Amino acid sequence: MAACFQGAVISSLDPEDFDQADLHGGHSPWFAKPGQHARLELSENLTCDALVVGAGITGSMVAERLTRQGLDVVIIDRELPGRGSTAASTSMLLWEIDQPLSDLSKAYGFERAARVYRASLEAVAGLKSLVAELGIVCGMRDKNSLYLAAGESSTDLMEEHRWRMRAGLPGEFLDHGRLRDSFGIVRAGALVSSGAADADPVWRTGCLRLR
Ligand SMILES: Cc1cc2nc3c(=O)[nH]c(=O)nc-3n(C[C@H](O)[C@H](O)[C@H](O)COP(=O)(O)OP(=O)(O)OC[C@H]3O[C@@H](n4cnc5c(N)ncnc54)[C@H](O)[C@@H]3O)c2cc1C
Repeated sequence: MAACFQGAVISSLDPEDFDQADLHGGHSPWFAKPGQHARLELSENLTCDALVVGAGITGSMVAERLTRQGLDVVIIDRELPGRGSTAASTSMLLWEIDQPLSDLSKAYGFERAARVYRASLEAVAGLKSLVAELGIVCGMRDKNSLYLAAGESSTDLMEEHRWRMRAGLPGEFLDHGRLRDSFGIVRAGALVSSGAADADPVWRTGCLRLR
């Protein structure tokens, strides 16, 4: 049986019965392009090597990986594919995780925390490579990220910068003046780092799905 990547996502239930709007409000800019939501009703029994439940970005990427490993894959979704929290995303692909490296190091030790951060940096790079390799047109762009000092002092941020440099992560510390001159933002300081990206999440999901 052909994998769903060569067709479309199969919808197992009537989308009218569910409400994805619980996850987001307003109109997502990611719905603008036509042809993103092709789907088939599940009208017959199917066999496959792997069934992926949920046709958001996670399900699409899992299915892409399994298909690449040679499995026949079917993705099902009870609603419209790509219209869950994937459609609510602000589209940033950041390698900086919510917990600062300094805090993570205090909790788990520097080596383990640094490994987590480096893995996150590599994950964004890997996603960019995958999109390029598969020729997916989703507006993927390299971006810098700006990590702003939270309070009146940049002491904690400078400490975070030292931890990051020690871990071999990219980034430069901007003091108050350089931050204001470069970005027009008035804060005590910031870290500007390469390695981030942005991309249309629904298009990325749809193109992965429909290959
Ligand atoms: C406002 C907002 C902004 C965000 N911004 C960012 C950002 O900038 N960068 C970033 O990386 N992340 C961001 N995120 C997080 C990101 O959007 C999610 O982590 C990601 O989209 C999750 O994708 P998913 O495929 O796991 O889930 P979803 O996109 O929600 O997909 C799950 C799918 O599973 C289906 N499903 C669920 N249960 C069943 C079932 N029982 N049977 C069949 N189908 C089922 C649903 O219908 C849905 O289509 C943001 C999230 C929100 C809400």
